[in-house]
Amino acid sequence: MPPRVHRLLPGAVSHPRALDAERLRGGLAELRRTAPERAGAVHERARAQCASWSAGFPGNPRTGWVAAGTPDEEEFCEGHRSEPCPALDPETGLCELYAWRPVNCRTYGPPVRIGAEDLPPCSLCFPNAGAAEIEAARITVDPDGFEDAVRACLGADEWTYVAHALGR
Ligand code: SF4
Repeated sequence: MPPRVHRLLPGAVSHPRALDAERLRGGLAELRRTAPERAGAVHERARAQCASWSAGFPGNPRTGWVAAGTPDEEEFCEGHRSEPCPALDPETGLCELYAWRPVNCRTYGPPVRIGAEDLPPCSLCFPNAGAAEIEAARITVDPDGFEDAVRACLGADEWTYVAHALGR
């Protein structure tokens, strides 16, 4: 069985983009085939989270898509940051869709460079490391800009949440 370890963040407010959302839905379809009860539980948690988020949702609550640069989005995320991701099994603490998780989940933890932006590591990683050591561990995500190129072709510049990717 592949590892399904969920990392502490980004949780419910992970930001899947179009390709992530497609991959998550593909993972849910596969889980439906192999473990329909667990897939049903993921879908139900996602639907419930979508419903509870409809008031104050920063994007289109019907489709779940949020435009880049939406001003209220940061505040919305802060308000929901502590909520669990619907793909997280509450009993085992494991990600039910680990092999299909969004890029955000795959890259959270180490110091990463995305485009021209250097993001810090998770505060729980490298607790005793100095700045030079952290910098030496930095990795560049998608150095050739492959995902951006695909999204540009698709005309998909928006992003969503795991709940909306799975709960519709
Ligand atoms: S998709 Fe999986 S790894 Fe990502 S936040 Fe949800 S439970 Fe965690």
